[in-house]
Amino acid sequence: EDDAAGLLALLRSVPDHPAPGVTFWDITPLLGDAQALARATGALAEAARALPGGRIDLVAGVEARGFVLGAPLALALGAGFVPLRKAGKLPWRTVRQDYSLEYGEASIEAHEDAVPAGARVLVIDDVLATGGTASAACTLVQRLGGELAGALFLLELVGLDGRAALATALGGAPVAAV
Ligand code: IMP
Repeated sequence: EDDAAGLLALLRSVPDHPAPGVTFWDITPLLGDAQALARATGALAEAARALPGGRIDLVAGVEARGFVLGAPLALALGAGFVPLRKAGKLPWRTVRQDYSLEYGEASIEAHEDAVPAGARVLVIDDVLATGGTASAACTLVQRLGGELAGALFLLELVGLDGRAALATALGGAPVAAV
């Protein structure tokens, strides 16, 4: 709608980043605009509340931009926040999920006690591209004992079919993008 279009106008498209032929959508102009940041987090909260399935106990954000959006979203929803970090950063005992990127491999980790059994967890990140990162996040949340409430993104790069790639990891849980 109008609000989403207004937010979209604040994203900067950077050609050939991080590799030739890739267009990177930079959300920092949006983050730096007080009104846009409030509207974006408000729109995410609205989208989260509209997901089927009910209560959300925890928001799990993917490092690093999933932290920036995930913490205000958790506050708006009355939920807690779980950081899904790049490998080697967390201080306590962790569970790790490896996944493939377009170029190479990556891993995310969470503390093994981050998700109480049966907690309903919403995964958030800024951008859904190929779906590899979000799939790993959703799988990790389930391995930790959480029930997936869904996956939420500020921006979905629809041409890359991330939703289809994410479907297996979601196991029927809903996806939304602002
Ligand atoms: P995917 O695993 O291919 O879906 O890529 C998603 C991950 O890469 C997310 O953590 C995003 O933050 C990041 N990402 C991929 N493309 C972009 C982009 O155009 N802008 C910002 N982040 C991106």
